[in-house]
Amino acid sequence: MDNQALLDADRNSLWHPYSNTSKDNPLFAVSSASGCELTLADGRTLIDGMASWWSTIHGYNHPTLNQAITTQLESMAHVMFGGLTHEPAVTLAQSLIRLTPKGLNRVFLADSGSVSVEVALKMARQYWLAKKQNKKQKFLAFNNAYHGDTFGAMSVCDPDNGMHALFAAQLPEQYFCAAPLPAWGDTFDPDKHLNDIKNTLKKHHSAIAAVILEPIVQGAGGMRFYSPQTLRGIKQLCIEYNVLLIADEIATGFGRTGKWFACEHAGITPDILCLGKALTGGYMTLAATLCTDDIAQSISNSDCGVLMHGPTFMANPLACSVANASIALLEQNHWPQHVAAIEQQLSQALAPAKAIEGVKDVRTLGAIGVIELEQPVDMQRIQPFIVDQGVWLRPFGKLLYTMPPYCIKTHELATITQAMLNTCQAHSAGHHKQ
Ligand SMILES: *Cc1c(COP(=O)(O)O)cnc(C)c1O
Repeated sequence: MDNQALLDADRNSLWHPYSNTSKDNPLFAVSSASGCELTLADGRTLIDGMASWWSTIHGYNHPTLNQAITTQLESMAHVMFGGLTHEPAVTLAQSLIRLTPKGLNRVFLADSGSVSVEVALKMARQYWLAKKQNKKQKFLAFNNAYHGDTFGAMSVCDPDNGMHALFAAQLPEQYFCAAPLPAWGDTFDPDKHLNDIKNTLKKHHSAIAAVILEPIVQGAGGMRFYSPQTLRGIKQLCIEYNVLLIADEIATGFGRTGKWFACEHAGITPDILCLGKALTGGYMTLAATLCTDDIAQSISNSDCGVLMHGPTFMANPLACSVANASIALLEQNHWPQHVAAIEQQLSQALAPAKAIEGVKDVRTLGAIGVIELEQPVDMQRIQPFIVDQGVWLRPFGKLLYTMPPYCIKTHELATITQAMLNTCQAHSAGHHKQ
């Protein structure tokens, strides 16, 4: 199929993430990808500033990751996980237990981030049922949170941009607190910054199974970075009021914020931890929900006796193998230096955006660079503008951001940051005309 035929056929037959079927949505066909570069079907190449939504941390078409899949393929692509097991899954579980904060000793392998959140919610609910505290069924979540697109996950997403009104009849009602503050780097005041959550827990803890949050970085719900002291304070409050803490590190896990896991910034261990996205180095869909021995044993010894979840493709061997290879690469290469260098370059190169009209805030943390605009981006105009500069970025609402592969070269990142500045200018010029 030539490029135009491919795009036409797509527009006649497919959905894309959060999109309508309108024929003039900007759309680009990719024919291959290697390192930090995407090659389009029309022959152009783009430097990738998105790491395919936080996942492609080692770059595309990596020989070690390719080899892991082809080697595994020769023995088996898949086998059911009910009553059967295999080495790729066991090795992965052992690595995740070793690398994540101490105390998380039991791993559930799920097929996507959203599913791992559903499993986390079920674990929390089943834990309190086992403890004969049947009233503890609700969750406390935060404004600007994003935890996925399935119903349980949606119920703990931001109530406004999380589609609560649209699916009101399907969604359980949860408790919400203001988005965690202060911002990363600002002064923490426990009275001010923990007040809302403390009052909510004080009043409703007997109905709350768990607090669910994205540690340090709220991702798709606003790309907000908040203080480790706030996270530590929330963990203390969870202990004080006898509710579990679920940390959703699907976006932040595997080095993105400069630590293996963002919880490490606060030195805390959550009761339940969700992982996904970068878990397989961006190769295949796989996620994990880890929990403490207490939770695993309580559920196992309960009247129900089993954790009520079991996907068909649970612990898929191909996905586990490439996850093992990705983790081995992280342990061998010097990712903390790469992420630190990316952070420094991003904060220097994006600073000039503060002076551009229509820019509200510029912030960086680890290998994440964010320009927050005052007005939403006009994607019809801006997406092709970005591609014309030889980079791939996918702005979302008022957020223009990058989270590149950790192996990005200095000159490639410079091209990305320059394109971000140019995009701010073009965005601001567009608003002037209106
Ligand atoms: C992406 C994401 C999810 C959902 O993961 P999917 O694999 O898209 O289902 C959940 N939580 C966070 C924090 C995420 O970034």
